[in-house]
This record gives sequence, structure tokens and C-alpha cells, in this order.
Amino acid sequence: MIQYRGRFAPSATGPLHLGSIFAALISYVHAKHHQGEWLIRIDDLDEKRCKQTYVDSILECLNEFELKSSEPVRFQTDRITRYAQAFNTLETNGLLYSCDCSRNSLPCGPYPGFCRHQIGKPLISDYAVRIDTNEIDLTIDDQITELQGSDAPGDFIIKRRDGLFAYQLACAVDEHIDQITHVIRGIDLQESTIMQRFIAERLGYRSPMYGHFPILLGSDGTKLSKQTFARPVDLSHPGQSFAAISRLLLLNDTPSHKDRPNVWIDYFLSLDNLISIITGVSEANTLSG
Ligand code: GLU
Repeated sequence: MIQYRGRFAPSATGPLHLGSIFAALISYVHAKHHQGEWLIRIDDLDEKRCKQTYVDSILECLNEFELKSSEPVRFQTDRITRYAQAFNTLETNGLLYSCDCSRNSLPCGPYPGFCRHQIGKPLISDYAVRIDTNEIDLTIDDQITELQGSDAPGDFIIKRRDGLFAYQLACAVDEHIDQITHVIRGIDLQESTIMQRFIAERLGYRSPMYGHFPILLGSDGTKLSKQTFARPVDLSHPGQSFAAISRLLLLNDTPSHKDRPNVWIDYFLSLDNLISIITGVSEANTLSG
């Protein structure tokens, strides 16, 4: 049997919505089908956007929905020194350079490399820091979708101008600290996978396996997200959210929306392969609510 350690890593930027519960459920079921551990990590690095009330509501929600962490919950804010150590290693290895391009001066798409003349020079404080991705490997070998690659992200930001370590760096370090073996998350994070795997390789970490599942769209056809103020799930009626997910997946013989969350979790665990059900009913890697 393979050793399996999965995780769900919500950002503490808002309460969980149906798309987040969907993501948590899939990674949970995937882990449990492999007799694995499943960890919860709170991504709370961005102090401007993250709030303690969101942390509390996310944890309460996962608890109410019976999606429980196998080990104590991790918080990114407890790990700043580890991110700094990883950053220093990348810097020592000559991979980082300073960038003062403003967001408005950049075209859409990959970073065009305006500041690459800074490569090899000492970092400048108050500048953003990018990583040189000249040798990035774009293959993913996705465990779920047929997609096997992604577009080149260009030299991406590792540390922001305001001094915050970027999510890509933090996440790569987190997977290493928590010895995560499987990252199962939405297809919208596929480009992040390329970047995080690149960082992991450059730091000499063993990279987890990655699988990306279709994401839920709201009735207006856009991704359900905290940024678009997707409606929070109702904590007092988890069965309603699970029932909504089962309708999207065209499942039959489901529990009732009035049933307890553990009945629903057992039901989802009893399905032979939730992932192939999802990919079977999704169109263009999305599911419309
Ligand atoms: N915290 C990020 C998010 O909620 C990343 C999730 C992940 O890496 O799975 O989008």
C-alpha cells in the first residue's frame, strides 16, 4: 500500500462556499480511499485579506461537515521562519532577482522578463523578488485530468514588494514540512502546480503527486470563489450542501438533505470512484451549479 498524506488548504479570506466544500470533499474521499491521512492547513499569510473570523468559521464549518483533519491544523503564519530559510537557499543558489515592475506596466500573461538584468545582483529591499524559471519543466503528469502540461508561467514572484512570501513559495515549503504525498485540488490551480513543483525541485524536496479536478461554476458561469462573494454554505444544514453536490454529479440513491453529515460522508466514501464520476459529468473541466 502506498503511503498517502493529502491536505485541504483554504485561504482565510472568507467563509467556505459550495466550491470549497466540493474541493474539501474530493481531497478527503481521495485520501480515505487510499487509507491516507488528510490534513487541514489554513493559508493565512496575507494579513490584509485574512481574518481570524474567517479562520474560525472555516474550521467550524469543516467540523460541522465531518471533514476532520487527521492531525492538528496547520497555519502558514506559524511558518514564516521556514519560508525565510527556503527563500535564503534560493537566493544563495543565485535563482532570485529583484523586480520593480509595477502591475500596470506588465502585459497579461507570463512575465516578459523586464528585470532579468538583475539576475546575479544582490537583492534590493522594497523590491519584489522573482525566481528565474529558465529551466522550468512544464509537464504535470496529472493523476486526474488528461491534461499533461500547462503554459509557461514566466519568472514568478517569490516575495512581494510588501515583504510577504508568495503563496507559491509558502505552499511548496508547506507540502514539504507536512510530508504531503498527494495534492488533489481544482483545475484552476494547475499553473500553481508547475510553479510549486519547480520551487520544490530547486530546494531539493521530493514533490508530491498532483491531481486536478473540475471546478464548480456559479449560475452566472463564473468560478465560485470568495473573491466573487460566493454564498457561504449553511453550517446548520450540511446535508443541503452535500445534496447540492450530489445533484451536480447526477448521483442516484443518495441520502436525504436532512441526513447527518456523517451519513453523507459514508455515502461518498461508498462510491467506487468519485473522481471518475466528476470527470464523467463535467464539461470543459467545469461543473455548472
Ligand atoms: N489557499 C489556496 C486557495 O484556497 C490554495 C489552495 C491549494 O493549494 O490547494 O486557493
